[in-house]
Amino acid sequence: MDRRAAARAFAALVFAPLLLAQPKPQYEIYALRYATIPGFQVSGLVAGADPGRKLDIAMMIWLVRGGGRNILVDSGFYRDQFFKQWHVTDFVKPSDTLQRVGLKPEDITDVVITHMHWDHADGMDLFPKARIWLQKDELEYYAGAAWQSPRTHGGIDPDDVLAVVKLNTQRRVGLVNGDAQEILPGVTCYLGGKHTYASQYVAVNTAVGTVVLASDNMYLYENLEKHVPIDRKSVV
Ligand SMILES: [Zn+2]
Repeated sequence: MDRRAAARAFAALVFAPLLLAQPKPQYEIYALRYATIPGFQVSGLVAGADPGRKLDIAMMIWLVRGGGRNILVDSGFYRDQFFKQWHVTDFVKPSDTLQRVGLKPEDITDVVITHMHWDHADGMDLFPKARIWLQKDELEYYAGAAWQSPRTHGGIDPDDVLAVVKLNTQRRVGLVNGDAQEILPGVTCYLGGKHTYASQYVAVNTAVGTVVLASDNMYLYENLEKHVPIDRKSVV
């Protein structure tokens, strides 16, 4: 190799990674409330809390916008059975909450499902163009072994399992394989506190630093302040 060719090879070696290292999008995050469940027992959310304490809990999904993407973290619920099982107020179909920020369901590019509980996963088929991101172990467990015992699928609805299996056959599911996986530039999934078999939480790059969307890995600020987890038998 002559000297000029060597210089070109050296430049390619040094500068190519710099060219590839695009800056990560700085996302904006919107909390979209779609329902309230009144009078929820706090001991179901904060292990060991006084059984007499009740709280009207806000049911939320999160919109993450940036880099040409509209990403939802969790999808809420909408199927009829949940309105028979639970007392729900202030309900807006999760896909209709997008009107507040000028979006339509088909504008959603990605939906990250933090876990398969009904109030997080049920709405995943409301967004016709979205790719659904879920931990591989969460999908495999709740599509299979979880139903071999009556006690290992609390809060998981069979319709939601069928929905995610169907989406997967349509090649619309992205399987997240374990901890610290950057599924999109600046959007990283981490394994959570085993709220479900393989629950996850999401870290998002923003202009003010990394924002963690904890989902049910930390239900209330009280969990953080007291360093107390959500109850292990929680079905929300
Ligand atoms: Zn949950």
